[in-house]
Amino acid sequence: MTTIHNLGFPRIGAQRELKRAVEAYWAGQSTQEELEATGRELRARHWKMQADAGLAFVPVGDFAWYDHILEWTTLLGAVPARFAQRDDRPVTLDTLFRMGRGRAPTGTPAAACEMTKWFDTNYHYIVPELTPNQTYRLARTALFDQVREAQALGYAVKPVIPGPLTWLWLGKGDAYVAGAGDEAKLALLDALLPVYAEVLDRLARLGVAWVQVDEPILALDLPAAWRAAYGRVYADLAKAPVKLLLATYFDGLQDNLGTAAALPVAGLHVDLVRAPEQLADVAAALRDDQVLSAGVINGRNIWRTDLDAALHTLAPVHAQLGDRLWLAPSCSLLHVPVDLAFETELDAELKSWLSFAAQKLDELNVLGQALGGAADAADATVREALATQRAALQVRARSPRIHNPAVAARLAGSTHVKLEREPFGERIVRQQARLNLPAYPTTTIGSFPQTQEIRALRRDWKAGALSDSAYETAIRKEIEAVIRFQERIGLDVLVHGEPERNDMVEYFGELLAGFAFTRNGWVQSYGSRCVKPPVIFGDVARPAPITVGWSAYAQSLTDKPVKGMLTGPVTILQWSFVRDDQPRAETCRQLALALRDEVVDLEGAGIRVIQIDEPAIREGLPLRRADWQAYLDWAVDCFRLSTSGVRGDTQIHTHMCYSEFNDIIESIGAMDADVITIETSRSNMDLLKAFEDYRYPNDIGPGVYDIHTPNVPEVGWMVDLMRKAAARLPRERLWVNPDCGLKTRAWPETEASLVSMVQAARALRETA
Ligand code: GLN
Ligand code: ZN
Repeated sequence: MTTIHNLGFPRIGAQRELKRAVEAYWAGQSTQEELEATGRELRARHWKMQADAGLAFVPVGDFAWYDHILEWTTLLGAVPARFAQRDDRPVTLDTLFRMGRGRAPTGTPAAACEMTKWFDTNYHYIVPELTPNQTYRLARTALFDQVREAQALGYAVKPVIPGPLTWLWLGKGDAYVAGAGDEAKLALLDALLPVYAEVLDRLARLGVAWVQVDEPILALDLPAAWRAAYGRVYADLAKAPVKLLLATYFDGLQDNLGTAAALPVAGLHVDLVRAPEQLADVAAALRDDQVLSAGVINGRNIWRTDLDAALHTLAPVHAQLGDRLWLAPSCSLLHVPVDLAFETELDAELKSWLSFAAQKLDELNVLGQALGGAADAADATVREALATQRAALQVRARSPRIHNPAVAARLAGSTHVKLEREPFGERIVRQQARLNLPAYPTTTIGSFPQTQEIRALRRDWKAGALSDSAYETAIRKEIEAVIRFQERIGLDVLVHGEPERNDMVEYFGELLAGFAFTRNGWVQSYGSRCVKPPVIFGDVARPAPITVGWSAYAQSLTDKPVKGMLTGPVTILQWSFVRDDQPRAETCRQLALALRDEVVDLEGAGIRVIQIDEPAIREGLPLRRADWQAYLDWAVDCFRLSTSGVRGDTQIHTHMCYSEFNDIIESIGAMDADVITIETSRSNMDLLKAFEDYRYPNDIGPGVYDIHTPNVPEVGWMVDLMRKAAARLPRERLWVNPDCGLKTRAWPETEASLVSMVQAARALRETA
């Protein structure tokens, strides 16, 4: 049988056992020993699943209490000074937790390390903090302990570690500002490599044959200095008495193939799901003694693999490489839920189209056996597995649940839909005449505190304990309270507060056709936080208006404009598992058309201002710059498709909450929203520079206070921030609003903060 292996397994547990265990430990409800025991159980369970599926080795080092990069950073002893780590002591679990979240049951609280998105996934890693002349040492032994743990259970192991260049690339520090930081970062290699040598040496002494070294940055556009560093770094690592499997994923090697293929490593893993076209080139570039690990099972999505297609692709390479061809998922399975077996409420047909981590291991097994020749020979189970697979895919391909001719026809016709609205200069005049807003108008981003009572209402209603009408009455009461509150404190453009929404994507998915929801489809987002992305499995359509009733009710209570509130097509796409049988752009267009109807219906119901949130536009950017424009073009078109159905005097807002608008400012301009509200308060309005340089023409509401903390902002401080904004942009274009929605806040600080914010706006109007 062909060698099969795995790059990493989800550590959180099928029932989020790890989340519960760490949270109980943080809360002082369990001991460290109990926590360790849960970790051991989960590792043992996951190793067993992988060994049972016939994997040649089980991965070790993919387990993490909080984040695998943080595990590695602490192993290297790279602990920032504020955590008061002594150089001669091991880094404890509590210090690791303090770095991840600022607090732990022991140790002094300190500011947590920054967290940021792991490449183009929704997983967030803890950013290593680099300092000039930083020293490294082996400061934690968890990796070695876990190797022994797996060996004691009888498994062959393959440790998985982040490569030195990827670890440095991911790191940040004052001395490593963009552009000037490369050489300085690379200078840290001299201190770093001896620790890597020590780690590899110790692993060898534990009897380890193969070590997987993850270098996903080889799938990025790399500056020359980084590419050049690879040769020397791997010449050094290759001195260790182990075989190195260099793992790349999330995109193709492209211009880095020459670099990767020249390294003295024993094997190379490539992602053939994201970049199938690289297979022949990579196979041709390998030396005779090197292994090619083909990542053919999608580690980023939840669809059953087309094994026939995979076999077809692999056959010639198998003929060429024989045993030197290994099979694996495209990347770590961290990004998919654990086991479909827990989905008791999905219908059998839909389930037969899906594959979670456990099922992906089985697919790998079948593929490995089939490639080894078992398919034509006697092995009936393999033949049967392939046949089952084929049948499921055939049913899926033709299913009327997926293909809705009305959606297809509408999509085909949508190329003629006009995406342009009348010029902003004309629109804004008409909008102002209709809305009659003061200078520096105030508004909020949409949600108001999601109190325990609101959550309980929804829970009871979903459980059937509360009737539809009782639920509606209760939500209406909530909306009325929010409207009265906003009127009382003097906000200008009101919102209904989103009390009916559990989540900004799930809510829309539940009311659109083409979506399915799992019960246990959890994927780690960061630390103990998991998300359960909806599954877009079929053509998207809007069977009935979604938000119109709530918004119209809210508007009926007041003369002030109430903003309709929608989640944009790109964000819904980005935060879901998306079907793989058509391009993402097409699914996004279907979403855009459904939202377009909602926007038009809102206008028809008398809503004068409509906000379409697109916080995920930027995170959808492909990893390679060459692919950016194509993505931005369809993403912007989708936004415009959803918004261009309304009159010029209907005001369209959008909201984005992330930093860094520089590289995409032209596309933000092309979205042509009348008003964009953005997260800026923590950057001291520096983020507006991109808008200033671009001479962004439309209205903009730079957030004046951070909603991530309960701190109440001072009036003077917000006035100052707005003055900074006015120094960069015309004051007639400015709005005053918080950074983001208020759903995670409590009422007392919400009220105090917004009262101050309104005062700040009044002060600005008077002094202007
Ligand atoms: N309208 C949403 C809210 O206020 C926006 C959330 C977001 O930007 N993530 O909650
Ligand atoms: Zn936001």
